[in-house]
Amino acid sequence: MRGLLREAGRVSGVVTEHGELRCASVVLAGGAWSSLFCRNLGIRLPQLKVIASVLRTAPMPGGPELAVGAHDFAFRKRRDGGYTIAQRSANIAPITPDSFRYLTDFLPALGRQYRELRVRLGRQFIDEWRLPAHWSPDQPSPFEALRVLDPQPDLAILAEARRALCRHFPFFEGLQVSQAWAGAMDATPDALPVIGPVAELPGLFLSTGYSGHGFGIAPGAGVLMADLLSGQVPAVDPRPFRFERFQAAHP
Ligand SMILES: Cc1cc2nc3c(=O)[nH]c(=O)nc-3n(C[C@H](O)[C@H](O)[C@H](O)COP(=O)(O)OP(=O)(O)OC[C@H]3O[C@@H](n4cnc5c(N)ncnc54)[C@H](O)[C@@H]3O)c2cc1C
Repeated sequence: MRGLLREAGRVSGVVTEHGELRCASVVLAGGAWSSLFCRNLGIRLPQLKVIASVLRTAPMPGGPELAVGAHDFAFRKRRDGGYTIAQRSANIAPITPDSFRYLTDFLPALGRQYRELRVRLGRQFIDEWRLPAHWSPDQPSPFEALRVLDPQPDLAILAEARRALCRHFPFFEGLQVSQAWAGAMDATPDALPVIGPVAELPGLFLSTGYSGHGFGIAPGAGVLMADLLSGQVPAVDPRPFRFERFQAAHP
């Protein structure tokens, strides 16, 4: 999706790389790209990427069946008999232009979570610096140029996870890594998602900023979004997820 169509001050459709679609409401569920999409609309959505690394092992017969989430490691068995393993208390916080753009929003969270965040300055700063902040719907969007966010896994963090895991579960000593990968989590300043309408652009709804918990809460988040879109009384109180909570500090 490149952008939105607007008529009489509200959303009237979307523009995709394959053409236009008319609709009265749009849900932006763009994960870590939602903030950039909003910026092109002139809407300020404070959101930063946090990079989490994971590995999977070759099949390990006879290992634990349970899933464990400890302070500095986590594992669960996979269907092929291997294990997915991660460090639970260390993620990369890349410094990007958004880090400065949203610094005041995120300072309290940084103060609370600095032990779990490894702040890094690298190529991502330059890459994001080069991204256009604005584009017109008849031009290819930055999303089309990138297609998939595929950050490099942090091997040092994964080595920490392995050491911690083997200390507590010696069974895993000698494990063979089949694959390591990473993903960008879309963090908000209060680590809660944004689920609801955007008052400054009627017809636009946000479902984003799941801050590393989107799998777990997706079923409830989907019901809430559907209730809000269809004008039903929401199944849960939507106020903690209002977009406008971020605007109080930046009117
Ligand atoms: C390593 C790792 C481990 C995790 N572990 C857990 C866990 O154990 N439990 C848990 O609950 N959560 C976990 N999460 C978080 C979870 O994956 C996310 O919260 C969830 O995927 C967010 O879902 P989403 O649909 O909001 O965003 P995404 O899954 O990022 O989906 C957004 C989609 O929108 C597309 N998109 C964006 N912009 C555009 C555009 N302009 N046009 C077209 N398409 C667009 C993207 O390509 C993407 O496919 C983990 C995340 C990572 C990275």
